[in-house]
Amino acid sequence: MQSVEKVADGTLLMHFILTNPPTDNWNFIAGQFVNLQFMDEKNEEAWRSYSIASGPNEYDNPAEFDLLVRVGAEGFGVGTKHLMHMKVGESLPVRGAYGRFVLPKELPKKIVMIATGTGIAPMRSMIQTLKSQSYRGVVELIYGGRTPSDIAYLDELATESSITKTFCFSRTKDFGEYSEHSKHGRVTAHLPAPYIEARYYICGNGAMCAEVRGHYYAAGLTRKEVHTELFY
Ligand SMILES: Cc1cc2nc3c(=O)[nH]c(=O)nc-3n(C[C@H](O)[C@H](O)[C@H](O)COP(=O)(O)OP(=O)(O)OC[C@H]3O[C@@H](n4cnc5c(N)ncnc54)[C@H](O)[C@@H]3O)c2cc1C
Repeated sequence: MQSVEKVADGTLLMHFILTNPPTDNWNFIAGQFVNLQFMDEKNEEAWRSYSIASGPNEYDNPAEFDLLVRVGAEGFGVGTKHLMHMKVGESLPVRGAYGRFVLPKELPKKIVMIATGTGIAPMRSMIQTLKSQSYRGVVELIYGGRTPSDIAYLDELATESSITKTFCFSRTKDFGEYSEHSKHGRVTAHLPAPYIEARYYICGNGAMCAEVRGHYYAAGLTRKEVHTELFY
């Protein structure tokens, strides 16, 4: 681990470099995750998944990547309790990258991204990729948390001209400098209307993912159009 920074309430942005890549040309696709190995209290392996928040071409060295980790106030379990105390220079076994929560080869006219909390990680990687490919379609991001200090990358996303964005805050109507793009309530209260030629990417906690997916399925969309990644 090369650096760590607190970027939102209980949320760390951690920069890693693979020092012993599984192959010489280690690589990932935007939207994929890596598995990190921890040791639990019985000294048994415990693997946890983390979506890569940086774009595949963001760093010159393809073996460099960022993870955005919600650790809360004191960690949730073995993974977050380890990560929140990890020091620069320490390392962890890693496997991957894995996952099918990725953009299609043939890009649609519109891509809708719905994320809460650290669920923004795979979306940010996709946004970086779409920018590097000069994607000409529409990217609509709906991104939620309790308050502005609760979620990461707000400054970057607020000024990102290649996307349209709505930030949804469930516990405050004081949006501060983000008022132009902000609404009160959960993401589920501000979902864009279903659009058959769009692809939908939903990432965050299981309850939110299920509710949003159910909303679009009820409108006639299918697994072909609606992709979900459940974090917990
Ligand atoms: C494909 C995939 C990608 C993921 N990507 C990310 C990521 O980019 N960033 C990230 O922070 N996490 C991500 N997760 C979740 C991550 O893998 C761990 O589950 C999480 O860090 C908790 O691990 P733990 O060992 O500390 O706690 P666990 O022992 O796994 O869980 C302990 C308890 O805490 C709860 N819990 C776990 N996470 C949270 C949370 N954020 N808020 C509230 N309660 C929680 C669990 O439901 C459980 O009850 C991802 C999970 C999957 C499956």
